[in-house]
Amino acid sequence: MQLTDKQLDRYSRQILLPEIDISGQQALLSSSVLIIGAGGLGSPAAIYLAASGIGKITICDYDTIDSSNLHRQILYQEADLGNQKAKVAANKLREINGGIKAKAITKKLDIDALKKEISTSTIVLDATDNFEIRYMINRTCWDTETPLVSGAAIRWEGHFGVFDPREPQSPCYQCLYKNGHDETLNCSETGVIGPLVGIIGTLQAIEVIKLIVGIGEKSIGKIFYIDGKRMEWKELKLNKNPLCLTCGDSDRKPK
Ligand SMILES: [Zn+2]
Repeated sequence: MQLTDKQLDRYSRQILLPEIDISGQQALLSSSVLIIGAGGLGSPAAIYLAASGIGKITICDYDTIDSSNLHRQILYQEADLGNQKAKVAANKLREINGGIKAKAITKKLDIDALKKEISTSTIVLDATDNFEIRYMINRTCWDTETPLVSGAAIRWEGHFGVFDPREPQSPCYQCLYKNGHDETLNCSETGVIGPLVGIIGTLQAIEVIKLIVGIGEKSIGKIFYIDGKRMEWKELKLNKNPLCLTCGDSDRKPK
């Protein structure tokens, strides 16, 4: 794909980065990112990915915009209340960058539909807020060998990680919860500080760009935590769980 003068100009400040250059921009424009969840994490992630020239963004959310969303879901404004998040989001992304495709999915995806969407995407960005769908996304990414960038935020704390089924040593999202998870944790019950989801969603967008262009420090096998109240960062190593139901050694998995 030859970049036009308009594209060379529009993306000039990232093309100037030697790690990106023309070839990196071409890779971004040729890629397709599936963002599942158009809320607090999905908003900043989608905005930055659209602005950076991801060729196709599919944004998926079956919810409508509620006033309680507005303190953190920066894709939406008061005039959007009551409308479908994914539709409004895709329209905004087209306004940000008319040179990319933005598709909205407003239905809840069943496993077959999810598999179809994931298998045609370069990378999946998980910005959902419940474990059931997160595990389903993780499992489908593993089945289709599609890299997954996952993030979460609650109260003042957030974390994100990169899981890449193409790398034999990569743990998967489920390896993170080998001792189970706390089902009660979601921001509708416990609250979340707005800019925190901005930080985590934005970091997810950086990881997506790095994966597409094939640059930078590998974030695989690590989970990054931030505590916004204390302003502390932690980087924890995450090993593959050999007994993991999704990515573990099939001979050792419980039957
Ligand atoms: Zn696993």
